[in-house]
Amino acid sequence: MPPELNGRLDFWNIGYPLGALVYFTALISVMAIAWALWNRSKYWQLGRPNPDVGSWKIRIKVGLRTLLIDSAGHRKFVKHETYPGLMHFLIVWGLLLLFVATTIDAFEFNTEKYLGWHLPTREISLQLELIWDIAGLMLIAGIGMAAYRRYVIRPDRLNTMLENSVLLILLFGQAMSGFVLQSFRMAATELEPSSELYSVESSYWSPFSYVIALGIRGFGFSVQAMESSHFILWWGHAALMTLTFVYAAWRFGPLMHIFVSPINLLLRSSVVRPKGALRPILNMDTIEVFGARDITDLTSKQLLDFDSCTNCGRCQDQCPAWRSGKPLSPRALIQDAKSYMVERAPLLIRDGKDAPPPDVNLIGGFISPEVLWSCTSCRACMEACPVSIEHIDTIIDMRRYLTMEEASVPQTAMDALNSMEQRGHPWRGTQSTRIDWMEGTGSVTMAEDPEHEILLWIGCTSALDGRGQQVAKAMASVLKLADIKYRVLGMEENCTGDPARRLGNEYLYQIMAEQNIEILNNYGVRKILTLCPHCFNTIKNEYPQFGGIFEVVHYTEYVAELLRDNKIKPRKAIPMSVAYHDSCYLGRHNDIYDPPREIVDSIPGLQLIEMGEDRCRERGFCCGAGGGRMWMEEAGTKVNHIRTDHFIETSADAVGVSCPFCLQMMEEGIGSKGLTSEKSAKDLLELLAESLNG
Ligand code: SF4
Ligand code: SF4
Repeated sequence: MPPELNGRLDFWNIGYPLGALVYFTALISVMAIAWALWNRSKYWQLGRPNPDVGSWKIRIKVGLRTLLIDSAGHRKFVKHETYPGLMHFLIVWGLLLLFVATTIDAFEFNTEKYLGWHLPTREISLQLELIWDIAGLMLIAGIGMAAYRRYVIRPDRLNTMLENSVLLILLFGQAMSGFVLQSFRMAATELEPSSELYSVESSYWSPFSYVIALGIRGFGFSVQAMESSHFILWWGHAALMTLTFVYAAWRFGPLMHIFVSPINLLLRSSVVRPKGALRPILNMDTIEVFGARDITDLTSKQLLDFDSCTNCGRCQDQCPAWRSGKPLSPRALIQDAKSYMVERAPLLIRDGKDAPPPDVNLIGGFISPEVLWSCTSCRACMEACPVSIEHIDTIIDMRRYLTMEEASVPQTAMDALNSMEQRGHPWRGTQSTRIDWMEGTGSVTMAEDPEHEILLWIGCTSALDGRGQQVAKAMASVLKLADIKYRVLGMEENCTGDPARRLGNEYLYQIMAEQNIEILNNYGVRKILTLCPHCFNTIKNEYPQFGGIFEVVHYTEYVAELLRDNKIKPRKAIPMSVAYHDSCYLGRHNDIYDPPREIVDSIPGLQLIEMGEDRCRERGFCCGAGGGRMWMEEAGTKVNHIRTDHFIETSADAVGVSCPFCLQMMEEGIGSKGLTSEKSAKDLLELLAESLNG
């Protein structure tokens, strides 16, 4: 039996130096990509400097972890979407391994030829062939899955861009030509008894090519025909590779995300800025334009976002605005902004500040105000996006322009802003005062006695809305039972400014934030307990931007700790089931998922039901009130009604919440379906207080 070949002959049937021309075609590919990236980087540089860079040491450390876990490991892809996740995994790893194979081949050959080195990989090159063979099959399987999904399953979210089809065809052509040319080589050598390279055992290391090679031989090709076919396919394969990259570079199409998206992941803001914090406008007095009217008003990272978008539609699938029929699709928003950038950037590069105004404006032309006002700032899009595109920053920047430059705000939202400015809260028309809820609770204000363990920040909704006041009372009773010396600000408490900021009025927000920080500092407050996740997020994540450094806890965390420390012990059984609804500002914005569930689990008789695997925790569906939407009219299907349907589908007796906005929205949802006598919405504090006091 002939011995196994230790590897295969370099440039077999192609010859050298003719075969070395392939290095030239590879160079063309590299140069085309470099040229495209260089040109495109001029677009990104039109943006303002990215203020969220921070320490490069930390960024690279976190970035590498992200690249390994998210990009290479496909954590986000596979976690929630098995089919597209697996499909992408097969394509990426197939391509990557084949790239490694080609690189090793080139190194082995050239170092041996010109330096006389015998790389150790030569010793296992036959075994490596098995990996490369599997990689080729992975690539073909991934492309097959992609084609099946695109042309047979046809999910709604898939776009119909021609470039995606062209890319798929080019990749398929490359993968197949690579496989078949290997098989022709194998059929003409390892499986050909008259060949001096005859070695059937060697061919077993490439099992898939071997099967095709057997098929080729079954057709009765002559050796010469096999060699000619191999020769043509070899060059065709090299040409296709070059064509793929040149096409991608010319169109700056979908394939370019291989190069751009990792940079975007590396530069994501959450490395230095808390996920829940919006970027501040720090130079309010000198800035020329409030918010974003043009691409020059956005940051370079935001412009990079536009080019990183792969148009996959994951964000759109998760967006409550889109799913309730609003005009906002986060995917379309990014793609439309990209279209504007592509049209506008060349003019700005050519003419600089003298560039004529755009024929079609970014806001009002490419992106309508209705799109921008539809956002609840729930962060579902950003959580779903595999390449760390930051939709909320862009939406809020454009809202800032509408609000502060154009005074173009939906009327009801404008009323809320006016109320905040004049009365310190957005609840126009309320008859309550900030201290009404305190009656009978024994709560003491800071002004009465500033000595305190913790400051209880009530928030406008819990102080001024009748239903919210019940929750505030429940909180007070829990703190009393735990013997915590808490204080409240009473009439000195003002809105944190969260709705103003998310409605685009950064100016008003900053005034309110600075006033609150001053009051808190004057009382020497260090630790703050909040009822509302929005207040929690603002004071914890955004006040530090203005020097307000406090230890801030949401009640779910605080109470869960009291329970763990046995400072409170629920006794009375509450025999009912509760479906927990994750608040966006507690969950996705601040990663607080377990403490609320601990509270439910601590209450005897209370059974926790999840909203569904794809509807809870980081995939929880918004109640529809965030981002200032609480103060806007909602046409058509309401977001909270969809969420109420999710709750009803669980068959739970009550929906448990930990946010005053969610409480209002879920109660309205239950009422709208005529189920008030069977179902209820409860804040977890109400359930806990009932069990503690029973
Ligand atoms: S933040 Fe929420 S509502 Fe806004 S675009 Fe993203 S998913 Fe849609
Ligand atoms: S923004 Fe992200 S999730 Fe949305 S389409 Fe683009 S890449 Fe996909």
